[in-house]
Amino acid sequence: MPAASNLPAKLTKGNLPTKICLTCGRPFEYRKKWRNSWDEVKYCGEKCQRNRPKTTSLPA
Ligand SMILES: [Zn+2]
Repeated sequence: MPAASNLPAKLTKGNLPTKICLTCGRPFEYRKKWRNSWDEVKYCGEKCQRNRPKTTSLPA
């Protein structure tokens, strides 16, 4: 599959893309502070990032 973009094609209100937080499972909107790392963002906030589910498959 092409790895060019995984952003949703349809953007409803505004032009903000959304993702699903891997910790709490809730959708969250793009924020300016993530403008340089949006592709890497997986959590809605620092709290969820620190409380992320245990994963042993990720290389260090
Ligand atoms: Zn979250």
